Amino acid sequence: MDHRKNPICDICGEVQDCFKRLKVLKVKGEKTYMCKSCYRDKRHNHRNVTKREFVPIIIEEKKEKKKKEYIPKRYKKKTNREVVQESEAPIKIKGAKIRKKPNKSYSYLTLQEKQMMYNNLKRKGMSHEEADEQVKEFCKALRQTKI
Ligand SMILES: [Zn+2]
Repeated sequence: MDHRKNPICDICGEVQDCFKRLKVLKVKGEKTYMCKSCYRDKRHNHRNVTKREFVPIIIEEKKEKKKKEYIPKRYKKKTNREVVQESEAPIKIKGAKIRKKPNKSYSYLTLQEKQMMYNNLKRKGMSHEEADEQVKEFCKALRQTKI
């Protein structure tokens, strides 16, 4: 049907004065010509339908998105890896002091000190073997005592 020559509303069938009075609605390439009142009604209904059915869904989706995306600033800096490591660490008790392991620093004699001790013992009249043994024993005893 040629709407230019015969301006008829496709919905209510009312003949219009002029082609320009008709509104055109394109849906998937198919044109439907409507008079002003039909067009207004259709738009109105469509808007009501979208308001009733689609708007609440859209609002809920937006809310859920916001909930998922919201992370407090203090947690944002930590990466997932750091959080895992923290959980594996020993639990801190409030007010308790964690003792550090004492550094293993044993007292020892330098070579010169050993020689001095050896010479002193020899001067007192000890033999070579006795003096050597005594120095070694003294060093052993020193190694066992912690500072
Ligand atoms: Zn109409």
